Amino acid sequence: MQKKTFSNITERIKSIQKIKGLTKKEIKILLTPKRISRAKIKVRNHIFPAWRIVFNDALGPGKGGVRFHPETNEDEVMSLAFWMMIKDSLAEIPYGGAKGGVRFNPKKVSSQTLETVSRKFIDAFYKVLGEDKDIPAPDVYTNSQIMAWMLDEYEKKTGHHEPGMITGKPLELQGCSLRANATAKGGFIVMKEMVKEFNLNKRSVKIAVQGFGNAGANLAKMLHGNGFKIVSVSDSRGGVYKKDGLDINEVIKIKKQFGSVTNYSKGEKISNQSLLKLPVDILILAALENQITEKNASDVKAKYIMEIANGPITYQADKILFSKNITVVPDVLANSGGVIVSYFEWCQNKTGNILDKDYLEKLLRKKLTNSWKKVISLYKGNKKQIDLRTAAYIIAIERVLAAEKLRGHI
Ligand code: GLU
Repeated sequence: MQKKTFSNITERIKSIQKIKGLTKKEIKILLTPKRISRAKIKVRNHIFPAWRIVFNDALGPGKGGVRFHPETNEDEVMSLAFWMMIKDSLAEIPYGGAKGGVRFNPKKVSSQTLETVSRKFIDAFYKVLGEDKDIPAPDVYTNSQIMAWMLDEYEKKTGHHEPGMITGKPLELQGCSLRANATAKGGFIVMKEMVKEFNLNKRSVKIAVQGFGNAGANLAKMLHGNGFKIVSVSDSRGGVYKKDGLDINEVIKIKKQFGSVTNYSKGEKISNQSLLKLPVDILILAALENQITEKNASDVKAKYIMEIANGPITYQADKILFSKNITVVPDVLANSGGVIVSYFEWCQNKTGNILDKDYLEKLLRKKLTNSWKKVISLYKGNKKQIDLRTAAYIIAIERVLAAEKLRGHI
């Protein structure tokens, strides 16, 4: 993770200032985090730095996941919190943006230590969390069990039940049945919109997927099951490529059994870097940030990119891709299914009503197609002179600033 992710965001907002004519005060509001909470989590003789950052809360309480990752840092968590502000606003859900992180490698510790870190995260931050303050959820390397420990610790500390203080919980602890697959499902809905909009033939397009975690693998599975051809997938250990298409169900089995897609023997082994340069039509980025930078952007051959990870393309790379006529469906739209379903879960927790799964699926589709339509129509209204990300940012920023104005902050 490069240290400069937030300065990349600053550059992006300045470029939008030129298009939208934002005032200095508006820029300042958009680029200033509301609350940065820091802690050091001690586990035996190790100290893990931890953060919870609310970037903006004009539209509602902070909302966003918590990641456990050996390379996370304050710059990353702050950038992720900023992107949540944009994502929540674009999705028209009543939240501001937030994110949390703990720097350690969850893959290298026992389940007991994982539980200790999760509980200590809450011990450090429970005063700034709450269903109407700031609501965590899963992110990279965190899951529903971790949410369960966090909820339990929060309820112990505060002495009352409050399931709406965290989302992505197991079903028994008032989670939502749609949440586990929500990011992938959302990506699938957006992919179908994209295919329709750009007249792509799903039987002939070739797709490569970087990242085979919860979101990447589930999306690949849905696409494969729907007749799309996936020629390459990868995880942190590398990738596999098969020109005439991979059997994704088999790859998932192999990954479960042996730990990596690289153990799949029916394809050619390739590196993560070469996956990005494959001669495919659609590239799905579902790994981590800063994968396509000014160094490799000109090597991309795909005509369309969908961002399922947060921030996989830098600002400089975006400019190169735009000049090459490559369409990028941005993270704040393509992966917003996760937080939209978190919102459904939170609504259920607050009202005590369990909503019907089919109804929620319909609502998810409706929300995502609405976001897609808003973004595409602004893009077309600007005669395609801006990219889809800029269009999404403009829509989201307008809503945040309108709320700030109504509150009398501007
Ligand atoms: N971590 C997910 C994201 O980046 C979900 C956040 C949430 O559900 O609050 O969108």
